[in-house]
Amino acid sequence: PLRDGSALLRALNPEQLAAVTLPDESALILAGAGSGKTRVLTTRIAWLLAQGRVSPAGVMAVTFTNKAAKEMMTRLGAMLPLNVRSMWIGTFHGLCHRFLRMHWKAAGLPAAFQIMDSGDTQSAVKRVIKSLGLDEERFPARQQSWFIAHCKEDGQRPGDVEVRDAHAQTQVRIYQAYEEQCEREGVVDFAELLLRTYELLARDEALREHYRNRFRHILVDEFQDTNRLQYLWLKMLTGPRTAVLAVGDDDQSIYAFRGARVDNMQDFLHEFQVRHQIKLERNYRSSGHILDAANHLISHNTQRLGKELRTDAGAGEPVRVRECPGDQDEARWIVEELQQLHRAGTPRHETAILYRSNAQSRVIESALFNVGMPYRVHGGLRFFERAEIKHALAYLRLLENAEDDTSYLRVVNFPTRGIGARTVEQLQDVARQSGRSLWQSVGAVVGRGAAPLQAFHRLLDELRRDTRNLCLSDIVRLVLERSGLQDHYRSERDGADRVENLEELINAAEAFVTQEGFGRDAVALPVDELAPDGETGEIVSPLAAFLTHASLEAGEHQAQAGQDAVQLMTVHAAKGLEFDAVFLTGLEEGLFPHESAQSDPKALEEERRLMYVAITRARQRLYLSFSQTRLLHGQTRYNMASRFIEELPPESLKWLATRPAVAHWSVPPVAAPRSFTRHAGRATASGGAEPVAAASAGGWRVGQGVFHNKFGEGVVLTLEGRGNDARIQVRFGRHGVKWLALGVAKLTPLP
Ligand code: ATP
Ligand code: MG
Repeated sequence: PLRDGSALLRALNPEQLAAVTLPDESALILAGAGSGKTRVLTTRIAWLLAQGRVSPAGVMAVTFTNKAAKEMMTRLGAMLPLNVRSMWIGTFHGLCHRFLRMHWKAAGLPAAFQIMDSGDTQSAVKRVIKSLGLDEERFPARQQSWFIAHCKEDGQRPGDVEVRDAHAQTQVRIYQAYEEQCEREGVVDFAELLLRTYELLARDEALREHYRNRFRHILVDEFQDTNRLQYLWLKMLTGPRTAVLAVGDDDQSIYAFRGARVDNMQDFLHEFQVRHQIKLERNYRSSGHILDAANHLISHNTQRLGKELRTDAGAGEPVRVRECPGDQDEARWIVEELQQLHRAGTPRHETAILYRSNAQSRVIESALFNVGMPYRVHGGLRFFERAEIKHALAYLRLLENAEDDTSYLRVVNFPTRGIGARTVEQLQDVARQSGRSLWQSVGAVVGRGAAPLQAFHRLLDELRRDTRNLCLSDIVRLVLERSGLQDHYRSERDGADRVENLEELINAAEAFVTQEGFGRDAVALPVDELAPDGETGEIVSPLAAFLTHASLEAGEHQAQAGQDAVQLMTVHAAKGLEFDAVFLTGLEEGLFPHESAQSDPKALEEERRLMYVAITRARQRLYLSFSQTRLLHGQTRYNMASRFIEELPPESLKWLATRPAVAHWSVPPVAAPRSFTRHAGRATASGGAEPVAAASAGGWRVGQGVFHNKFGEGVVLTLEGRGNDARIQVRFGRHGVKWLALGVAKLTPLP
């Protein structure tokens, strides 16, 4: 049935069908949320392949997130018997990275170049500012790294930046020095991935022609959020025989702060000679009330291209709105609702909690944690960004590339090995003067610091030697041991969590290697991808691929792999995704819309588009909440409800009564968790026990306050087992989470 692709088309409506079967020319699909844009894009690829109009190597598809790319590959794989892994499907960054791995030499990069995440980038900029002897107050690293990223996104190298005053001149000087430092250390930041690729294509005609001939179809999802450089990059890859399908929704443009240009859509129409523009007006995702809410809200914006969106799905559930006395109460309420949804059969991964800014997640995380509900945070404070993990990754990076000064500085004296700040400064001076990396400059260091420094180098040399024939997870294990990291955190008073995180890194390495498809892109390059100059790119080691994965895909491992978990993310990160039930939290003036947008009409419209994105993620149920008080960034804020709630159609809303404040303490008796997310360590509940029955065992219940002679006051998290086996898990204020045998532990209930 798949031979000619006709079976793929059966489920489509006429407009979608027209889009999927367009001739091989450039086209634009402009349509609202949930109208099937992404589905059309995926189906078109499958159809083109099934029809034999293009080979898998002739297709490039650009998605907005790695998650979306994976999903697209899964769907394609299900539609066609294909090795989708070898196809060029990914984010702009991911595709450029792949490109640079193949053409590193031509791009002027070392074979083992490493990617810096935004944290690394900022600390690299900081070092530059220091080394130039500049005032860090006047030139904060954060701002300067933004400046550099903006320049790059506009395609500007230091020499291209227009300098108007002395301040700008210094900024450019920083940019210049930063580039030299990156060059020396063999590292690239995110924006560099794109700019490098673009420049290489621009100057290397043979290479450019090769790819222009190769890619017959380029398909771009979420086109409204492309920036200038991404647009130019696309143009660079488009030859006379390339058909570009751009798919987007101007109402979902939410990345202006990163340089996204909605105008790219208009430019695209002209510059790519687009003759086919398709609208999709039926929404297949959300039920009636939810869609009404979205339509009503976005109609308050003035800057729109104008689109309709309707559904045949019926009114469905009203949108539930709740005013909460405080943020803790809000979080607990969400958890209660989630428990109900889950009991009623909604899988956890079909439920999402969205917030405007990352800092809001902590309170929600702790409420989820308290009842042991597995969850996963996308973006934000993520596993790979935790200090202990970054330390471990730094050692691993140094194995790959000893010249990586950022990693070098991170761990040269961590765990402490008697290398003082003075010595490090001396080393940096020598390196700066000779234009070499820190690694290469060690010989010139004299005095008391020299010996421990040499010991550090010996350690790395030995590690490099001893890990040569090990599998990835054993490499990680050995590095954790020999570097002293593991012991360091073991001996720390509150280091238990960190030790567990380190152990989780071994698991992550193992999963990376075994899990089908993880990082394969970077590991093996198919033979058909020989470039015209015969350059094949280095075959990258699993370790290098893993490190890339760590920087590109941070935060994918919070709940254990395969565990059904509630999804937490910012609204920005939720773009393109959908869930049965969505909780949209913190709908307060100053938070959402963000305070920076309060007096700027343009910014306010962007906030409203963000709200539109949030609402349209929900299929069946949408919950909105706001809180009278909120503790954020260390201070209590008293907030008014967001104006966006006022902008929703009242007939689609159902207001929920606020419960009196006294009721908030008691967490309802719930099923004791079978397993915990990483935060609580490894899965703790034994499968055979009946945790549900034990939720109130022996007069104890979850949520109850208790006192322990040694550990002080705490709150019961979990009860498990019966009789002599009964165990209780308590979170103590000063001593953290402990498991205690109920028969032995002397606990007193607190009123
Ligand atoms: P967004 O703007 O949020 O990215 P979208 O326009 O890309 O949304 P999709 O994610 O492609 O929309 O589709 C939304 C949902 O509707 C998906 O679950 C998809 O499978 C479903 N859908 C799309 N078209 C059809 C159809 N013709 N019949 C049934 N379901 C459909
Ligand atoms: Mg989509």
